Amino acid sequence: MTPARAADIDVAVIGAGVAGFAAAQTLMAQRKSVVVLEARERTGGRVFTDIAPGIPFDQGAPTKPLPTGLSLMINGKEISHEDYQRFAKHADETGRILQALRKEAPGVDPRLVIRTADALEKLALAEALRRVPFAPLQRLPVTDGKLPVRLNSRVIRLDSTGPLVKLVTPVGDVLARAVIVTVPTGVLAAGGLGFAPPMRGERLAAIASLPMVQADKVCVTFSRKVLDAPDDTRVLAWSEKQTVIEALLRPGGREAAILTYRGEEARQLEAGGASAAAAGAVSALAELFGKEVRKAFLRAASTRWGLDPFARGAWAEGPAAARAVLAAPHSERVLFAGEATDPSGGVAGANASGHRAAREALAVLGKS
Ligand SMILES: Cc1cc2nc3c(=O)[nH]c(=O)nc-3n(C[C@H](O)[C@H](O)[C@H](O)COP(=O)(O)OP(=O)(O)OC[C@H]3O[C@@H](n4cnc5c(N)ncnc54)[C@H](O)[C@@H]3O)c2cc1C
Repeated sequence: MTPARAADIDVAVIGAGVAGFAAAQTLMAQRKSVVVLEARERTGGRVFTDIAPGIPFDQGAPTKPLPTGLSLMINGKEISHEDYQRFAKHADETGRILQALRKEAPGVDPRLVIRTADALEKLALAEALRRVPFAPLQRLPVTDGKLPVRLNSRVIRLDSTGPLVKLVTPVGDVLARAVIVTVPTGVLAAGGLGFAPPMRGERLAAIASLPMVQADKVCVTFSRKVLDAPDDTRVLAWSEKQTVIEALLRPGGREAAILTYRGEEARQLEAGGASAAAAGAVSALAELFGKEVRKAFLRAASTRWGLDPFARGAWAEGPAAARAVLAAPHSERVLFAGEATDPSGGVAGANASGHRAAREALAVLGKS
């Protein structure tokens, strides 16, 4: 690929996730020439539905609202009515503690801090953790369509010392009048994108204050009905192995389950590899629904967001002040977007940040 001519590109967007798409859409609506450079061989970033397991498996953010009901089990049995009430009280209290913890010690696995021996309190903690700190998903922003994305184009370095910004990729350089960076803070912290001039201390401190939370999912499918539960049942169970099982059973009426792991458990799941992840998920379900689960096991798929070099975790957690610092421009022509730059984070935050950075880019282009 030859370098793009100076006049070719108004704005280069780094990353084809929700934020990158939102930015590109706003810019294209204003008839600006845009290119979106994406490191992976697919678009969507942390919103991705994998169909390989034979059912739609949302590897990252859910693409439709999750069921609100919840079944609670301890040692294979559903808990009593009184315990459901006790659970609700604990879950609210734990939620408040979590909020404070997220502010004061972002990135620290709350399970290592909030310690309790009581199974019900452990389930309450799992439920409080599940209430992710984002606005609920109403409708997913469009992350595809006719946008000018170049896949397999990892940006290695971004140089804004000249009149145009130069982006170095393994498949050639790109020159643009302005750039919008949307890569996750985990990628920035790991040095996955070089900057000239280098990022300043304040931005580096903000990135350090917005570490990535670890969360992973395992999808397991079965050849027949072995999970004795209504469609779309969300279950939290305290297992014999003294761990919490968090699962969505029979999603969309399919003979399957999607298990979620967080914090240290997610780290261990990734380190153990795909076969161990599948075996662990099947064992957990067999404990709840009996040994037929093992016999009917068909296939499994699991995520590794922490080890993924283009994510390095599930989402950024940290204070609004750090998000505001990260959202500020790096230089006049290098702007920042992405979930971590927005006070609300998540998909909604990523979407809002992309539109915001695009407006900033339009202002920069208007000046030149
Ligand atoms: C398991 C899980 C559950 C979640 N649950 C929820 C939820 O319930 N609600 C919610 O709102 N959010 C949830 N999220 C978070 C949500 O998915 C993200 O906040 C959102 O998708 C981030 O969008 P983004 O565009 O900022 O970043 P990304 O989607 O990460 O997009 C950035 C893009 O940049 C690319 N990239 C990285 N490095 C480079 C490089 N050097 N060069 C070029 N491209 C690069 C990446 O490949 C990626 O495509 C969840 C995430 C996970 C993983």
